[in-house]
Amino acid sequence: MTEAHRIVVLGAGYAGLSAAKRAARAHGVRVTVVDARAEWAERVRLHQALAGQSIPSRNLGELLERKGIEFIRGRVLEIDPQARQVHLEGEWSLAYDSLIFALGSVADTSAVPGATEYAFPVATPEDVARVPALSGRVAVVGGGSTGIETAAELAESRPDLDIHLVSAEEPGVWLSPKAHNHIRAALDRLGVHVHAGAKVAAVSATGLELVDGTELPAETVLWTTGFAVPAVAARSGLAVDAHGRVLVDAELRSCSHPEIYVAGDSAVVAGPAERALRMSCATALPTGKYAAAALTARLAGKEPAPWRFRYHLQCLSLGRHDGVIQFVHADDAPARAVLTGRAGAWVKEQIVSGAVKLARP
Ligand SMILES: Cc1cc2nc3c(=O)[nH]c(=O)nc-3n(C[C@H](O)[C@H](O)[C@H](O)COP(=O)(O)OP(=O)(O)OC[C@H]3O[C@@H](n4cnc5c(N)ncnc54)[C@H](O)[C@@H]3O)c2cc1C
Repeated sequence: MTEAHRIVVLGAGYAGLSAAKRAARAHGVRVTVVDARAEWAERVRLHQALAGQSIPSRNLGELLERKGIEFIRGRVLEIDPQARQVHLEGEWSLAYDSLIFALGSVADTSAVPGATEYAFPVATPEDVARVPALSGRVAVVGGGSTGIETAAELAESRPDLDIHLVSAEEPGVWLSPKAHNHIRAALDRLGVHVHAGAKVAAVSATGLELVDGTELPAETVLWTTGFAVPAVAARSGLAVDAHGRVLVDAELRSCSHPEIYVAGDSAVVAGPAERALRMSCATALPTGKYAAAALTARLAGKEPAPWRFRYHLQCLSLGRHDGVIQFVHADDAPARAVLTGRAGAWVKEQIVSGAVKLARP
């Protein structure tokens, strides 16, 4: 009897789970998923958790093993591509025949002095667990989707707080004028003080110092300015960009180590108009699924279907009763059509719960 081909998936986020689910459909393979966490918490709902709502969490072992996928809880330190081994914390290693790398991302607090020491990121469940009890003034830094969602959610659930959203640009400016104006109106309605065009120079124990010299005192600073990736890929010798994200070819294989497929926030994937896909659940799900489909097609001696991707929409929640669904062109540029208000909140909720169904094995 021939031995099953061992596919190891690193990371059980949206990309890793959708990859494992797709890979497990192939014949003659044994799929193992490795993640440092025992539970899969929906990352796209972390702003809700921060606002005190309980968010769904699923036991990874139960979720995977009932579908015949092995789960190993462990922290990945390094990959040895030559020996086809993954080194885990606790001085043990796991052998693989094929690897799918999907270790996702964490908060990026590197750009501004004091942010790592004094600001509280909202990028992972561990980050949210570290946020102290909120009171008084809370400064949310970052006017991207996560910052807007965080400020709106907190303002709605915790009207006792004085929320300030601090952003280098007008929050939502990358969307159509209708969506952007709706976001501004919703933040005003919720009592969020928006500091647009405000660049943070430093974070301290007492709040923010802006580039123009203004001080913005705050009891707590929440940090949402972007994501960084774990150093595992770079440490393992995979070719990465300046931010440590893995460079991949058109089949989502590492450019330096084509036997390793990469998906989700960990990979720099060319999208429509040759722009790199944005780090998002919306791209983690299809890249995970495609990486596993391409890998298992090759194992079966077939040529994988080419990678194809287009964007459809961007969605933001503005508390539990309002939201923005921005329809976009294939390359993510905003179209004219926008859905707002309760309808927007409802569609966003369907998308968030739909993402779980797509990822869950
Ligand atoms: C508050 C918030 C709201 C968001 N809202 C949206 C949204 O509305 N729409 C959208 O498209 N995107 C949204 N995102 C972004 C989205 O969550 C991420 O882009 C997405 O989760 C990336 O998926 P992934 O599978 O690549 O990585 P992740 O979801 O980060 O999963 C990576 C997994 O790898 C594991 N891991 C990491 N390092 C190691 C290690 N060394 N060893 C073992 N395991 C490890 C982690 O435990 C994790 O389970 C939001 C993010 C946040 C924080």
